Amino acid sequence: MHAPAGGAEQESLCKGCIRVTTTTPELEQETNPWTSAAIRFDQAAARLKLDDGICKVLKSAAREITVHIPVQLDDGRIEVFTGYRVQHSIARGPGKGGIRYAPDVTLDEVRALAAWMTWKCAVVNIPFGGAKGGVICDPKLLSDGEIERITRRYTAELMDVIGPERDVPAPDVGTNDRVMAWIMDTYSMHARHATTAVVTGKPMELGGSRGRTEATGRGCMIVTLKALQRFGMEPGSTRVVIQGFGNVGGMAARLLSRAGFKIISIIEYDAAVYNPNGLDIEALLDWRKETGSIADFPGAENIDKDEALYQECDVLLPAATENVITSHNAHKIRTKILCEGANGPTTSVADEILAEKKIFVIPDILANAGGVTVSYFEWVQDRQGFFWNEQLVNERLEEIMVAGFDAVIGFSDKHPGVNNRTAAYMLALDRVASAIRTRGLYA
Ligand code: NAD
Repeated sequence: MHAPAGGAEQESLCKGCIRVTTTTPELEQETNPWTSAAIRFDQAAARLKLDDGICKVLKSAAREITVHIPVQLDDGRIEVFTGYRVQHSIARGPGKGGIRYAPDVTLDEVRALAAWMTWKCAVVNIPFGGAKGGVICDPKLLSDGEIERITRRYTAELMDVIGPERDVPAPDVGTNDRVMAWIMDTYSMHARHATTAVVTGKPMELGGSRGRTEATGRGCMIVTLKALQRFGMEPGSTRVVIQGFGNVGGMAARLLSRAGFKIISIIEYDAAVYNPNGLDIEALLDWRKETGSIADFPGAENIDKDEALYQECDVLLPAATENVITSHNAHKIRTKILCEGANGPTTSVADEILAEKKIFVIPDILANAGGVTVSYFEWVQDRQGFFWNEQLVNERLEEIMVAGFDAVIGFSDKHPGVNNRTAAYMLALDRVASAIRTRGLYA
């Protein structure tokens, strides 16, 4: 995970690694996921005084596979799609990470996301490494049959490297439970027996877990409640602004609102709505279903969507997309707590500005780890062939999220000058490094 050289001042961290120092990079470089991951890695590795050798191991993906997938399109033509699967680390268990179908998938992006998964699984201490996959294609332009054929051939090409004990994919951008069902079926046909635990995020009838759909939003709620306790705040007087009203943001809004929080604003890509007394989230969800947008919701006023992120609140929950808080706007953020539902909503330069403003950040690799945690439960249930009720799933999710929060925040409290994000990375790197050291290197 070497930071790109251009733009920023560099200094030597360990042999062969480059550390980007605190000079402000150009926005383009600042928002590059690869750069962000590298900066966070380097900050945590330096603090941990991680030795050169382990640093090199953790910076490289264990395995990167590129496959070229010939597929017959509906009109009879043959097209070849390129797909990747990167297993960043399998030191703590099988690889775990989604498969993305999008036209702009690159090997670099898949690599960065695979490493991200290693840290996320380690933060919540579940027995997985990190992996990610992707196929360069535009699912919006493909028929269901074409997507099915891409999925089956992609799975067949990866037959030797995925599996319940090796690497367990899940849905990501452009893929869903239908795609996971095709992966499960293709893998099972090759294995000659039904293997439900090869993927997570499956439909319930194929071994999916109860509680998976709401798991990421629920995880956000659990860590937000922990942060509130820390500051002696009560949900009833806590004003929440949520960006993104999809799976994560919509679920978080619904659950937080049921827990008594005042959701004063929801921001979507096309509109933002505001009610100082708290929005009726169920009614807003119905309104969006009916009209296709949150705009003009009768129980709220429309506000400027480009300024909505900057209104005063107690909890800001970005749950839409990456790089929404950068060096250009971090100084305008007015919240006490930032709960990162999305992956990578804050750049590393923005981190420093938020720290100066004393904003309590619950970093993405902790805040949105509820999804991968219930994926882990799905894998466990598939392997034991015994399924849990929703209450048990939610209780166990809470146990893991609370332990993750306590470990990260406890670490930050004990080490002056270490913010929550660096603490999360330090904890994760330390856990993975310790697994590598304990296993030793197989010559
Ligand atoms: P989603 O597509 O269901 O929802 C995203 C929502 O954000 C959509 O309603 C979309 O219209 C809105 N949006 C997009 N761009 C926006 C913008 N610029 N401003 C305001 N709103 C915008 O996706 P999701 O599954 O909810 O994922 C959201 C984020 O959470 C992503 O970063 C994803 O990687 C991350 N995440 C998701 C999960 C999960 O379980 N779904 C788990 C971990 C992390």
